[in-house]
Amino acid sequence: MADSIINIQEEEEEIARRRLNDLIEECPQLQKGEALIRKAFELANEAHRGMRRKSGELYIFHPIAVSRIVASEIGLGVTSVAAALLHDVVEDTDINLTDLESLFGPKVASIVDGLTKLEGVFDQNASLQAENFRKLLVSMIEDVRVILIKLADRLHNMRTLDSMPEHKQYRIAAETLYIYAPIAHRLGLFAVKTELEDLSLKYEHPQVYKMLEEKLKTNEADYQTIIDSIAKPVKERLDERGLQYTIKARPKSIYSIWRKMQTKNVPFEEIYDILAMRIVFEPADNGMAEKTQCWGIYSILTDLYRPNPDRLRDWVSTPKANGYEALHTTIMSPSGRWVEVQIRTKRMDEIAERGYAAHWKYKEDDDSAEENEVDKWIASIRQMLENVDSNSLEFLDAFKLNLFTSEIMIFTPKGEVKKMPVDSTALDFAFEIHSNLGYHCIGAKINYKLEPISHVLKSGDQVEIITSEKQQPKYEWLDFVTTAKAKTKIREVFREERKEAVSKGEQIITERLQEKKLAINARIIKKMLSFYHISNKEELLYQVGKGAISLDNLDKVLTQKSSNKWIKMWKISFGSKDNAEEEDDDDDYEDDSSDPAPTPMPKNKNVVLSDEATQSYSIAPCCTPIPGDDVVAYVEENGTMTLHARRCPQAIKLMSSMGNRIVAAQWESHKVLSYLVVIEIAGIDRQGIVSELTKTISFEQNVKMRSVHFEAHDGVFAGSIYLYIHNTDDLQTLIKKLLKVKGVHSVKRKEKSEKAE
Ligand code: MN
Repeated sequence: MADSIINIQEEEEEIARRRLNDLIEECPQLQKGEALIRKAFELANEAHRGMRRKSGELYIFHPIAVSRIVASEIGLGVTSVAAALLHDVVEDTDINLTDLESLFGPKVASIVDGLTKLEGVFDQNASLQAENFRKLLVSMIEDVRVILIKLADRLHNMRTLDSMPEHKQYRIAAETLYIYAPIAHRLGLFAVKTELEDLSLKYEHPQVYKMLEEKLKTNEADYQTIIDSIAKPVKERLDERGLQYTIKARPKSIYSIWRKMQTKNVPFEEIYDILAMRIVFEPADNGMAEKTQCWGIYSILTDLYRPNPDRLRDWVSTPKANGYEALHTTIMSPSGRWVEVQIRTKRMDEIAERGYAAHWKYKEDDDSAEENEVDKWIASIRQMLENVDSNSLEFLDAFKLNLFTSEIMIFTPKGEVKKMPVDSTALDFAFEIHSNLGYHCIGAKINYKLEPISHVLKSGDQVEIITSEKQQPKYEWLDFVTTAKAKTKIREVFREERKEAVSKGEQIITERLQEKKLAINARIIKKMLSFYHISNKEELLYQVGKGAISLDNLDKVLTQKSSNKWIKMWKISFGSKDNAEEEDDDDDYEDDSSDPAPTPMPKNKNVVLSDEATQSYSIAPCCTPIPGDDVVAYVEENGTMTLHARRCPQAIKLMSSMGNRIVAAQWESHKVLSYLVVIEIAGIDRQGIVSELTKTISFEQNVKMRSVHFEAHDGVFAGSIYLYIHNTDDLQTLIKKLLKVKGVHSVKRKEKSEKAE
């Protein structure tokens, strides 16, 4: 018996070894370091021996799969592949960093160090997830390969997410969407970013994903016909000129289609630019600049088809901050469909697909190349990290801001260009140039016109900052600055002040409690937090310290009941939530079911939301989900549960920072309770239409109307109706009926703004 188990394992190890051989054979850049790579494999194999992933597969297959992504999809070399093979050994096995350093040298060891999560229990308010993330970034600024391997690790984990329990799927999918896909984008890893986004959607909204996947499949043949007919004459003209090129075409990614459906609030059929065609060419060696040649092809294309004037994007003259270069236009096809066309040289195409790594390859050939935008981004992360902040969550926010890549171009008075995120204000721009300019900024001349510091900039603005020595930074500035740099700099000024207030607050509370012969403890703090509706201890101390909370009600606070029925039930069924932070934060799917530690949270249980259990949860006001919506539950600090829609920005943030508090939740049939929903109706106005609509609603047994608002202008009406409804099925039924009313063009459930964070 034991022998046969060993035999099976040996066979699997042999398969793993073969996969490694294939990889080395396929990637020429690995061949010079073959010996080191094999050594790394043997150590990893030994160290992980006997371990299996949740899927049942031998653990070693995971580091091999990650190495494959690292080498063949991102294009990295020997050191990175060795580190990728070893990326989990320090975290999960007995091997330590000293071992790695003596066997593989300091470089591999320090990359693995960067990929190893922190151990230990943090204080209640800290987020282990955010702390780990900060550590990852600290390593990234030393060596960017750390984050590239982390992205590969995450990509493989997302590809194999099926075997994880649901609540972890949501958390990992949300975190991927919140942090890792944007990082991949920022580093220009387009293919990785797209796959991460699609996989996140697949787990967050399985039905939506499947529906879109099927629709794309059904339309595949049509798409091909459209593309072929557009491409044919283009090919003829390109051939006439003797150009070397390829034309590729594909629909947009499922995620980007879904995003468009969400932001524009339209069904799949109304997304008009699903198709994208790409012309990749080898620039002719005729002394003509790449840029000129790109425009040459643009000219050929637009001789044949009419371009949409609003959709021309020239990232050849000014590459995107992530290094992306291409010329984009959208043309009208003979069949009446808009098709986006991207024009790139081979070099640009490789940068677009592989991002950072490819960038370096080209940079090495060219000594004169300036510091690229990715380098600048990494430098800005370094700066953020240097401003050590006590709160890792604040850091995560700031980092998130820094990831925005949709950017505008702002000109200095001397005509220099600075790229800024959308919604940047004059004050952001001042901080971008120099922190002293920011601190003393009193206004700005924007295109020669005087504007306040809060003025939101537009692409192409020329901005001259006006300062005064008398100006002092103000806390309120945080309300309108957008860039991480400005936020960090402003916070820095107030951090000292805040620290003083916090310690003063602690002193005040201690003294007041002493009068009652009490001492500060977790229980009392919890009571105070819930009484004053404050989310964490630090904020409470601060509020008390600066006098915003007077403690006049202290007796009332101390005598209030600390927990309601539900919390007690929660504690009985799942154990105290105080241990919540100790849950293993693994995202590597190692099978931890043999772990003898008690389970503090309902890890593997889905909370079932039945009509009877309503007192056990509350509906998040930010996204107001109703039964039938895809939801997750978040266990609040005080033990109660809040339900969020899975796509709610607030929930995504929580899953990315306090993921251990996320519980999978499922609705049971809901036929008793009603939930508030707003639907928006628009159409052609006619006599009696409002009464017909309200009549239709009143005929529905499962729906109650709360209020109706309608407005008509120039023969068109728009309105909203507030309803009480049991679930999404009833809502869909009603929407279908309303759409049948003559004159009605659209009926939609009102979604909360995505921006409302
Ligand atoms: Mn891993």
